[in-house]
Amino acid sequence: MQRKTAAHVHLDAIRENLAIACSLAPQAQVIAVIKADGYGHGILRVAESLKERVSTFAVATIDEAMVLRDAGLSNAVLVLEGVTSAESAALARTHDLLLMVHTAEQIALAVEAKSSVWIKLDTGMHRLGFEGRELPGVLQQLQAADVDVQAICTHLACADEVDSDATRRQLDSFQTCTVGCDLPLSIANSAAIIAWPDAHADWVRPGIMLYGASPIGGEPLAAQPLQPAMTFSAQVIAVRKIAVGESVGYGAHWTCKRESLVATVGVGYADGYPRHARNGTPVFVGGGIAPLVGSVSMDMITVDVTDRPLVSIGDTAELWGRNVLVSEVAASAGTISYNLLTGVSSRVPRLYS
Ligand SMILES: *Cc1c(COP(=O)(O)O)cnc(C)c1O
Repeated sequence: MQRKTAAHVHLDAIRENLAIACSLAPQAQVIAVIKADGYGHGILRVAESLKERVSTFAVATIDEAMVLRDAGLSNAVLVLEGVTSAESAALARTHDLLLMVHTAEQIALAVEAKSSVWIKLDTGMHRLGFEGRELPGVLQQLQAADVDVQAICTHLACADEVDSDATRRQLDSFQTCTVGCDLPLSIANSAAIIAWPDAHADWVRPGIMLYGASPIGGEPLAAQPLQPAMTFSAQVIAVRKIAVGESVGYGAHWTCKRESLVATVGVGYADGYPRHARNGTPVFVGGGIAPLVGSVSMDMITVDVTDRPLVSIGDTAELWGRNVLVSEVAASAGTISYNLLTGVSSRVPRLYS
């Protein structure tokens, strides 16, 4: 690649973040969530770097699981959405994949294919899962058919709020409907690993924290030991002097109030930089933070470097990474870190270290 726009992926940071997840939930086993191309970091490289450290990976879809199997990965792999056809269930069986079951249809598929499964209960998120009162019947059906049930799980809707009645209700409900059940239990995503120790149970399912983004909103940099695993960077391709009263970019949404130095950086929404990032979104360039100004274009952004007059063509700008947290950029664009990390486009090479 000649253009310098790139997502640098720090695999050692991912391993450190896994160690943090393990130390926060020392009694639990870890299932590393690497769906959506490892949250944009490259599913195979992430899997490769963690495969000796975790027994099990989770992906969203069977196609993602097959990417892992086709590459020869032999860890257990859980398909979080399960499957919707007999053909997929048979493929999963052939490749020794664990399937989530959350509908009557999936029970039938699992019975037919003799799959190994996790059961998903809906305790309040109301997206996927059986009602708690259905659990005895579901278990009976699966076990009568010799389906290997490996765990029962649920998913929290509000784990990122450190004090949440909705989460307390979900935990109570899960506890109530699994009481006396001697199967392994799983509740916690990253937010619950960090903020809800009562939710750790037997298996924790860290995703976003592995990539170094805190799932807890508004957490300051100093409070989080997580290591950002992606540095998204691009080059300054022009530095222009703009006169008072002139505007910059599409729609003329930013107007100079003082004579300004504006750096144009070679990254835009076609690369995954958020189109809705507001004026003032931090960009790290020339050794410090400078504010985004004007609209984000397809291939370029503009940054006010008036206070960093040494910035020049060829300099590297960090869009997010260790100096600008992806969560800050997300907040400034009205979205979440997950959206930005998974949205870095295929035009952007991933470079590994
Ligand atoms: C994506 C996902 C996770 C991981 O969530 P994070 O917030 O990224 O830690 C865990 N469990 C399920 C069911 C998921 O879909």
